[in-house]
Parts: sequence; C-alpha cells; structure tokens
Amino acid sequence: MQNDEILFDIPLRDLNSWRVGGVVDQFYFCTDKEKLSYNLQKRNFKLPIMFIGLGSNTLFRDGGFRGTIIAMHKGLNHIKLEDQLFYAESGVSCSKLAKYIARLGYANSAFLAGIPGTLGGALAMNAGCYGSETWDFVDKVLTIDQNGIEHLRKKEEFDIAVPGPLLQLLLGDGAKVVLEGQQVASERLDQLGFSFRYPTLASALAAATS
Ligand SMILES: Cc1cc2nc3c(=O)[nH]c(=O)nc-3n(C[C@H](O)[C@H](O)[C@H](O)COP(=O)(O)OP(=O)(O)OC[C@H]3O[C@@H](n4cnc5c(N)ncnc54)[C@H](O)[C@@H]3O)c2cc1C
Repeated sequence: MQNDEILFDIPLRDLNSWRVGGVVDQFYFCTDKEKLSYNLQKRNFKLPIMFIGLGSNTLFRDGGFRGTIIAMHKGLNHIKLEDQLFYAESGVSCSKLAKYIARLGYANSAFLAGIPGTLGGALAMNAGCYGSETWDFVDKVLTIDQNGIEHLRKKEEFDIAVPGPLLQLLLGDGAKVVLEGQQVASERLDQLGFSFRYPTLASALAAATS
C-alpha cells in the first residue's frame, strides 16, 4: 500500500487481528502528520473518519465501512526521552515502547509489553494488564481534530475509561446501560464456530479486574 495517499475500496480483513470485515471506501496509511493535517484541512477524506492502530481490538462489519480509515501503525513511530518524559507517536507498538523505556533503565512500563497494539489504541482503550493502566503514566497528549488543527491536551482534559466494578459502585443499576448497552455480534464469527470466552463487556471487565 502507498503511504500518505488516499486509496479506495480496500479490504478491511487485512487491517484487524480477526481478519474480518468487508471493504472500506477510503483508506489512508499515515506516515507524516503534516500531510495528515493538510488532507484534513482540504476535506479530502470521506466522513466519518476512524483511526486505527494494529486492529487488535477492532471487529469490522461484513458490510464494510462507508467512510475513511486512517492507519497509524508503523507510520508515526518515533520515540524520544526529554526532561524525564517519554514522547511516543501514536503508531508506536506498546511492546516497542516498553523495550525502549526498559533499556533506558526506567521501571513500571513492563506491563505495556503484554498489550498487542499501538500506543494510540492503548490510549483509546486505556489498555492495561498486571495491575497497571496506560493512563496512569500519561502527562499530555497531542491530538489532531477534523479540521487538521493540533491540540496539546493535559491528562485532566480526558474522560478516562473506568473499570466495570467501579462503574457499578457509582451508578448502581444504571451501570447496566453502560456495560451492556453496546453488544455487537458478527455473523461470520458465529458461522466459523468461534465463541468468545467473555462474550459481554461486563464479564470481560470482571475477569480483568478480579
Ligand atoms: C491476544 C490479545 C491480547 C490482548 N491483551 C490485552 C491486555 O492484556 N490488556 C488490554 O488492555 N488489552 C488487550 N488486548 C486488546 C488490545 O490489544 C488493546 O486494547 C490495544 O490497546 C488495542 O490497540 P490497537 O492499536 O490494536 O487498537 P485498534 O484495535 O486498532 O483500535 C482500538 C480502538 O482505538 C482506536 N484508536 C486506535 N488508534 C487510534 C489513534 N491513533 N487515534 C484515535 N483512536 C485510535 C480505534 O478507533 C478503536 O476504537 C488484547 C488483544 C488481543 C488480540
């Protein structure tokens, strides 16, 4: 696939770990954030836009996606250390970031090695394991909006995903709406005989936090 060019009618199965999904109308492999910003400013992408990393937490519909998918993995993949803070681009894989941090002698990042996605995905999901979560270690995030404008945001400006049991404590029965309100079934996975160990978000959260 060509980098930083808008491609048309690309099969989604190549863009997620589950190898499922139909065709996306437009696809863009981002390696340069200035070019990304330019294309956003010029309204070159069909809406809606979805950013993806490694596609390890994404199931695409067989009907495909009627918009633009922008892939970040390997494209934006620089890491640097400055004034005791690590700066990593969103396409950096969590395992690469974990190794980079560990080699420089810093602790507490080992959990990232267990997450098979990108930093962008880890931020979107608040990925975590072994008792640590991504956002515990975030100071600020550079984002880009649909007009191509960058924003440097502090951690405090984000609504960070909360574990299910805490939601239940806070919302009582209302937590059901949040935890069980969105369920997606894939006909093809059913046909292939695949079943999820944790079929609902609530059971997955309970297992992850027990
Ligand atoms: C075998 C396996 C083991 C796993 N183990 C764990 C685990 O231990 N802990 C855990 O938390 N998760 C785990 N996961 C889930 C998944 O790996 C993580 O949620 C990971 O953080 C997803 O990253 P990704 O780059 O693959 O995201 P994707 O699947 O590509 O995207 C996930 C979501 O993030 C959004 N997103 C991705 N990149 C960006 C970006 N740059 N900007 C804006 N939005 C973005 C997407 O739109 C989508 O909504 C596991 C998955 C698998 C398959």
